Amino acid sequence: MYKQIAFIIITIITLSIFLYSVSIIYKNIKLLKKAYPIKDHIKRLKMLLEIGIGQNKIMRFPLIGFLHALVFWGFLVILIGSLEMLIDGFLGTEKILAFLGTIYNILMALGDISAYVIGILIIVFLFRRFFLHIKRFSGIEMNHKNHVDASFALSLILLLMVSLALMNISYLKSSDEIVGQYPISKLVANVFSSSKQNMHVLYEISWWTHILLIFFFANYLPYSKHFHVFMSLPNVYLSRLTPYTQMTNMEAVTKEVKIMLDPNLAYANTNSNEPLEIARFGMKDIEDGTWKMYLDSLTCTQCGRCTSVCPANQTGKLLSPRKIVKNFRERITEKSKGLRKDAKFDDGKSLFKDYISAEELWACTTCNACVQECPVNIDHPSIILEMRRYIFMEESAAPSLLNSMSTNIENNGAPWQYPPSDRLKWAENLTININD
Ligand code: SF4
Ligand code: SF4
Repeated sequence: MYKQIAFIIITIITLSIFLYSVSIIYKNIKLLKKAYPIKDHIKRLKMLLEIGIGQNKIMRFPLIGFLHALVFWGFLVILIGSLEMLIDGFLGTEKILAFLGTIYNILMALGDISAYVIGILIIVFLFRRFFLHIKRFSGIEMNHKNHVDASFALSLILLLMVSLALMNISYLKSSDEIVGQYPISKLVANVFSSSKQNMHVLYEISWWTHILLIFFFANYLPYSKHFHVFMSLPNVYLSRLTPYTQMTNMEAVTKEVKIMLDPNLAYANTNSNEPLEIARFGMKDIEDGTWKMYLDSLTCTQCGRCTSVCPANQTGKLLSPRKIVKNFRERITEKSKGLRKDAKFDDGKSLFKDYISAEELWACTTCNACVQECPVNIDHPSIILEMRRYIFMEESAAPSLLNSMSTNIENNGAPWQYPPSDRLKWAENLTININD
């Protein structure tokens, strides 16, 4: 009874903190602009199954990709066991899902195997992170805090797996009637020769350790790069379906150009929802960004796969697509508190210039390699292109070649410096034989 009351109190506190974090994210989303309508759910579901559940993008590097996928799939199985622990804790029951019979046995067996597999893999990942100096784990955007965060979260997962394994072993050694199958723990349990009573104490300790670690982990994640544990599946589902780097037209600008070409259109009815007066062309700061950019930034695992294939980065330019996404999250974390109180809040800084420089933005070739490589379908170029739009249209500060090209298009209807009347000058004095 005391265990049940303590559990309910702790769960309510945990849930309240978690919901508070989620509510902040929701409020931040409300500060941002619309991205695109979420339609074509069949296509999205297919993408979710292939990229989200099937982890097919990560398999480009078969070995390490498969190991990561194993951790992900193992987590999904273990999640069911955690759900059972929650229900048991609330109701004061023991192994409440046991009524599922064979299915329960299979789930418990898979969960038990996963605990050991994930535990071993996390040790491998930690070793790799600390001793193998993988190039993509470092970069100008990766500071000490990021490395600590990654190692801390991995260590937490390791502790979760150890406590789960101990829980299974002590359960097997202390229970008269075993429910479920625990194949690896059954083997390991032979090593333990303690009394039933001691094993029961160990079971209680590991049960509480495991559930408290889950609670702590859930509340740590929203502030960590490991938030992708929650975000990757929704982010993949909500991915853009139109070709990446295809720029979205600003309806008001398109209309203005059409009116220039045909003044009669000024009186035509349009169904446009876009306000005629545009507050901002492109993106200078986060409030000009979309909810999808924010979701992308929350989902980034900081794996560096995008940067490792970026041709600009690989040829020594300043651009790192991981930095672009990371900077968006850092900036929204910094500014959103003020914006939530006052929509016009200004701290004198902006994403452009204070976080991301023009040099980085113009280094992008819009090749899409970063999107192609990202295991959670993050759309880096959308941020880059919107910021370029701002530089181009509001600051007229594009590289000089681009500026003169657009001036020429405006004045001459072509990217060159010559008026349309001079276009055929090259053919003057030429004799053209039309019979040839
Ligand atoms: S689209 Fe831009 S940021 Fe992405 S890989 Fe290509 S050059 Fe790099
Ligand atoms: S954007 Fe994607 S590929 Fe790049 S670091 Fe983040 S998760 Fe990895």
